[in-house]
Amino acid sequence: MGKAVAFVKRLSCAEVVERVTAYLDDDLGDETRHAFDDHTAGCEGCARYLIQFRATVGALHDFSASSPRQDLSPGTRRRLLAAFRESRRR
Ligand SMILES: [Zn+2]
Repeated sequence: MGKAVAFVKRLSCAEVVERVTAYLDDDLGDETRHAFDDHTAGCEGCARYLIQFRATVGALHDFSASSPRQDLSPGTRRRLLAAFRESRRR
């Protein structure tokens, strides 16, 4: 038995950005989640991105308080991601 986890998975900044919604939804596997944490711990840009994204999603939560465990529509997610991608370019 014993699954070998000898290698450390690494994510690029782009991969972190792509996975941020899954991360916040607790939708990543352990390995990817770990890699995500690892990346944001050492990457200021992505750490800030995560904080901003979380704040935005939090605001959306408040907006639709009737459903605590929110489900952003795919369209909303895409627009959020696109907006954050734009803001990162500046
Ligand atoms: Zn990064």
